[in-house]
Amino acid sequence: MQKSYDLTLAEISVVAAVLLAVIITFSAVLFWRYRKRRGLGRMAQFAGLAVSDNVIQDQKLSSSFVLGAIQNGVVMVGKDNVLHLFNPAASKITGWPADEAIGLNVANVLQLLNEGGQQLPTEANPFTKALQTKQSVRDSNLWLATRSGKRVPISLIVSPILDPSSQTVSSVVGVFADTIKEREDEAKRSEFISTASHEMRTPIAAIEGYLALALNEKVAKIDPNARKYLQKASDATKQLGILFADLLTSSKAEDGRLANYPVVVEAGEIVEQVADAGRLKAKEKELGMRYIVSHDQQRASGQVMRPLYYIYIDPNRLREVLQNLIDNAIKYTSEGTITVRLTGDSTVVQIQIQDTGAGISSEDIPHLFQKFYRVDSSMTRTVGGTGLGLYICKQIIEMNNGRIWVESQLGKGSTFFINLPRLTAAKALEIQKRQASQISPLEPTHQL
Ligand code: ADP
Repeated sequence: MQKSYDLTLAEISVVAAVLLAVIITFSAVLFWRYRKRRGLGRMAQFAGLAVSDNVIQDQKLSSSFVLGAIQNGVVMVGKDNVLHLFNPAASKITGWPADEAIGLNVANVLQLLNEGGQQLPTEANPFTKALQTKQSVRDSNLWLATRSGKRVPISLIVSPILDPSSQTVSSVVGVFADTIKEREDEAKRSEFISTASHEMRTPIAAIEGYLALALNEKVAKIDPNARKYLQKASDATKQLGILFADLLTSSKAEDGRLANYPVVVEAGEIVEQVADAGRLKAKEKELGMRYIVSHDQQRASGQVMRPLYYIYIDPNRLREVLQNLIDNAIKYTSEGTITVRLTGDSTVVQIQIQDTGAGISSEDIPHLFQKFYRVDSSMTRTVGGTGLGLYICKQIIEMNNGRIWVESQLGKGSTFFINLPRLTAAKALEIQKRQASQISPLEPTHQL
């Protein structure tokens, strides 16, 4: 049976009005979205952002304003090493218009150079590395050759974009900034520190000298109270002297002015001398001090021979490093023994300074060799220091093609390791002969 619906005129009018309202609202929404898209598109054009069609869809245009407004260069590179996105700041820094850069190989547009001005080899290029390793790569000491050939210092971080389902890298994003201003500021700061510390050392040496005279019973008569105060003043002045000397050394090491006169030395001699000198200080704190050399070579007769560990280094600089590490080991250990070890293989000489002291937490270890870094602990607070010693050690060891690092466990002690390239006896002799035949004094060198 068929149903019949009789609608009155009023009901028909209501239905028609509702339909009309729905149609008008729908059209208004469509029109508003169209206007918004056009507006966004215009704004993107205005922001000067050029993107390849397949990268950013319309609904993501709002992020393109952000990219357009960012003062850092932002680029996106596909697995094929081709540029897919190039924001206005990237154009400004490189001199490449975005529409010309997009579609080109990243290496042709972002010509990256090392500190020495040489083009980075492919395997060292941060874009290649991030694509291959799926890890972020950061480098703050790069240079970039612009389109016109000008060289600009930059810092760059390249981060991979992982496909969440397959965990493969679909592309990488590079963000870079022109660091010329920062480097100029850093150079000025460094020059100021260098000049100030140099100038301060002279009056401080004079104060130290006069305080020493005042405290010398043969030269001056002072009452016990005054002696107590002057002794404190003398200790503080010595500390200040160390701070200025460290500041001067670190600023020189940073800009390559640290005098370095490398010669062939037998590491064993120097390590033993410094360990011996530390023995007295260790004894004052009732700490033991051991020096161990690995005797890994045997003569045919069965007699054990101490191996000769030849290295090419400025002996004074090596002494400075070892003294610093041994001083620290004594400073941050309240009981037990300091062990200095010398070992190595055919290519490497390794020096170890081990203590049974406070140890260093795993959170502090990555920062330990940074300038002014001091672990915030009750022990560090009671022990004087500048936080520059390990930074200087690292600069000196790296200047001599070596490596320095620490392994430590909180409460159990620390071992500092130094690896330096080992010279064969023949090579050591050859360098010694060459240096002996030089008429002029040795030139400072930073290379082996
Ligand atoms: P400082 O003048 O403060 O000793 P360093 O650069 O030599 O400066 O050392 C940095 C920090 O590393 C120290 O403040 C200390 O907290 C920590 N440290 C260095 N050596 C040791 C060690 N052998 N044991 C424990 N902590 C150490």
